[in-house]
Amino acid sequence: MDKTDILSLTLDELRTKIDEIGEQKFRASQIYDWLHNKRVRDFSEMSNISAQLREKLNKYFWINSIKIKKRLVSDLDNTVKYLYGLYDGEKIETVLMEYKHGNSICISTQVGCKMQCKFCASTKAGYVRDLLPSEMLLQIYESERDSGRKINHVVLMGIGEPLDNFDNVVQFLKLLDEKPDMSLRHISVSTCGLADRIYDLAELKLGITLSVSLHAPTDEIRSEIMPVNKRYNISQLMTACKYYFEKTGRRISYEFALIDGVNDDKATADSLIRLLKGQNCHVNLIPINAIKDGVFSRSKSVEEFKEMLSDGGINATVRRTLGADINAACGQLRRDDQ
Ligand code: SAH
Repeated sequence: MDKTDILSLTLDELRTKIDEIGEQKFRASQIYDWLHNKRVRDFSEMSNISAQLREKLNKYFWINSIKIKKRLVSDLDNTVKYLYGLYDGEKIETVLMEYKHGNSICISTQVGCKMQCKFCASTKAGYVRDLLPSEMLLQIYESERDSGRKINHVVLMGIGEPLDNFDNVVQFLKLLDEKPDMSLRHISVSTCGLADRIYDLAELKLGITLSVSLHAPTDEIRSEIMPVNKRYNISQLMTACKYYFEKTGRRISYEFALIDGVNDDKATADSLIRLLKGQNCHVNLIPINAIKDGVFSRSKSVEEFKEMLSDGGINATVRRTLGADINAACGQLRRDDQ
């Protein structure tokens, strides 16, 4: 019999499991408290649980854990970048960032990625496996423990495509939703544009922010830099995004990484304005991080591009660059470690 990954269970699910192994349901809240509030790593540390029950828990469940392999701290802005080792020896990255309103964490959702975006380091070594809900949660727990900071914003923008690991990501969001001090309004899920899954997510009406990595307003440019565009083109993606907004009332945030000579000219700004005109949305301009062996370099006209969008009536901001000295661009640390 396979043991159950206990850290991936919601409290209700844990109650059901505890009942199934013939124990009283109230035990579930005690165990849950040890796991998620006191955050012990072994059943032997659960001191108000009898030795007999602890043995039984060991038989049916396992407690997942992750370990810090590398930690880089920025001298500029306190950004911390972690390389975490997983139970099977795989590695992922997590970035902890400090803002005026608190701490935000950027977590990975897969080991590697299948999406092959040309400018992204995460996809270069290919895809290995999906992360478990517990492994997403542990990126928060371990980073909080190590840094002593309390995290109140979570972005699913690290290694991997969240909507390609749909069920585990949704389960992870349910686990976060159980926390009294965490609001789904403070959580962003970023996707390269898997339109079918955007419809599925809309049905769940979770109250999260959906970020869509658009990066180009025409199929010609987008298919060139993001192969996923050949599966779901811009028109299909926009229809899904509009549906998402209608269903959830949450405006979409479009990510647009400006690449020198590729998508940063006036013609591109004009087509982007035409594409998004009338949509209740926001554009987040990202000065692209050049990656090793990458062919793309950072645009020199980020501010001008922003002005062009604003003049065209599109709400746009430029994302602040954090951790510039520790190479916080996602996927690079894992790649360098191979
Ligand atoms: N797969 C998801 C989430 C991970 S990538 C997605 O595509 O949205 C998170 C964001 O970083 C995406 O907007 C992605 O396009 C962007 N990104 C990837 N590589 C980058 C780079 N080198 N410079 C700037 N942004 C990058």
